[in-house]
Amino acid sequence: MIADIAAAAAGSQGLIEDFDAICDTGGRFAGTESEITAREYLRSRLAEIGARPPMAHGVEYLGWTRGAARLERLDGPGGSFDCVSLVRSPTTGPQGLSAELIDLGRGTEADFQRRAEEVRGRIVLVRHEYMFATETIHRRRKYQWAMDHGAAGFLIACHVPGAGPVTGSSGATPERGIPAAGISAETAAALMAGGPATLRLTVEASEAPSRTENLILDLPGKESEWAVLSAHIDGHHLAESAMDNATGLAAALAVAEAMAPHMAAMTRGLRVAFFTVEEWALAGSALYVDELDEAERAAIKADINLDTIAGSPNLTALTSEFDKLEAWLLQTAAAHGHALGAHRPLMANSDHYNFARHGIPATRIVAGFNETDSAIKYVLTPGDTRGSIAESDLRNATALTAALVAEACAAETLELR
Ligand SMILES: [Zn+2]
Repeated sequence: MIADIAAAAAGSQGLIEDFDAICDTGGRFAGTESEITAREYLRSRLAEIGARPPMAHGVEYLGWTRGAARLERLDGPGGSFDCVSLVRSPTTGPQGLSAELIDLGRGTEADFQRRAEEVRGRIVLVRHEYMFATETIHRRRKYQWAMDHGAAGFLIACHVPGAGPVTGSSGATPERGIPAAGISAETAAALMAGGPATLRLTVEASEAPSRTENLILDLPGKESEWAVLSAHIDGHHLAESAMDNATGLAAALAVAEAMAPHMAAMTRGLRVAFFTVEEWALAGSALYVDELDEAERAAIKADINLDTIAGSPNLTALTSEFDKLEAWLLQTAAAHGHALGAHRPLMANSDHYNFARHGIPATRIVAGFNETDSAIKYVLTPGDTRGSIAESDLRNATALTAALVAEACAAETLELR
């Protein structure tokens, strides 16, 4: 039965139709029409699979709407350059922020310490890094170090030549932040040619209380226990958020659809959770798991979270320091003929973190871990489009997910805590 479910999910025409339809909605930046359109599409697909609409779990958050962003060189050859404001960057006002640029290279903590005296009052330039690798230093840490050292502004350059500018969250809060924007590798080089430039950075944005929804569909089994299959809806505005995370959403739909006819035979139920505002410090899933009571959390035996599962043929489970979960994942994947890597440390880089934080065995399945040359390098750039993935990789990741989810639901006992 489980092999049939995996074959049905991975071979389904719907997998590619859903993937294309989700990409068609655009980048799905939280609070935009694109996110709303995607959510409505997912709601209708979950309703078809579950034979009734999914539960809509309301999420209140402080919305941030992107306005124009401009970068001008005030000295030397002058000129203006493309830039993209980072999520939740404070505004500069129409007069902009004028300051000299300081290039800290990669922007490690040591880089900041070495030039601490020069950072104050300047706009710092650091480099974006491949997102999913053991040694990655996240942009939000660099942004914090910039603020800690008194920087006036923050620029982060894409590390991939020709890939355009990079976006992402800044980590700014209403209480603490400096204007922040992403630029291309070529812009960074131009700004440093002939010595550090004096720049004017202008960021326009507005903030207002907003509301969105997580979508939760329960497909009950025989016992009142659950395996959760989660994926995030929202993304970034530069492209289609195809790898991150239309791949995870489409695979979750295909797996749920293949599982639905078999649920009466399953020990525990399948709960499909589509979270939003993930790109905003995992806000949607944080609220959801926090609001469950102890008994509801205890009934969740595992969370399998899909985030960026194609873009490389190689898949890794981030196993959040749960030894038993890791052993079970590797053994189950191998039993179904799938290669799966594992990375043990708890990583706060997707919604599985909020389950793990509450003691629920939780994993993120991700493609291209430590493969810095894979297509995953285009996540957060204009290159995160459907053309960046191979259909065979999405089908293979879906087959693995289906095998894991079906085994998790079918097992007589599943005690991975
Ligand atoms: Zn993601």
